[in-house]
Amino acid sequence: MSEQPIDQTIFAKIIRGDLPSEKVFEDDQFVAIKDIEPLAPEHILLLPKEPIRDISQVNSEHREMLGAMLLRAVEIARDKGLEKGGYRLSLNCGDDAGLMVPYLHMHIMGGKKLGPPA
Ligand code: AMP
Repeated sequence: MSEQPIDQTIFAKIIRGDLPSEKVFEDDQFVAIKDIEPLAPEHILLLPKEPIRDISQVNSEHREMLGAMLLRAVEIARDKGLEKGGYRLSLNCGDDAGLMVPYLHMHIMGGKKLGPPA
């Protein structure tokens, strides 16, 4: 079976506004939305507007975007009041990690004791 074109993924459609979402942040580089099936009191997904399938597809040209993505995630966690209790930033890549949506996204999770990464 051929891979779904990246512009047909759920997150590409959300970024374009073709699908609804609960946005918590947007600028010219990123959109952050609430996860539809949250695994923690705060569960946010940070999506770069540049379409990239997963973290295995990045190269040195993405250095600046990746740095900005990490800093943005930290700022969102701070804005959500997660710094005191702590939080988790994670990226899934491939089947073994359980990647479901093949469009690069960072999970920002906090608001409870998370336990070991599943
Ligand atoms: P993963 O690909 O495993 O890193 O996780 C994809 C995440 O996207 C899961 O936590 C889903 O709950 C979430 N998700 C799937 N569809 C939507 C949607 N339409 N809006 C917000 N989150 C979604």
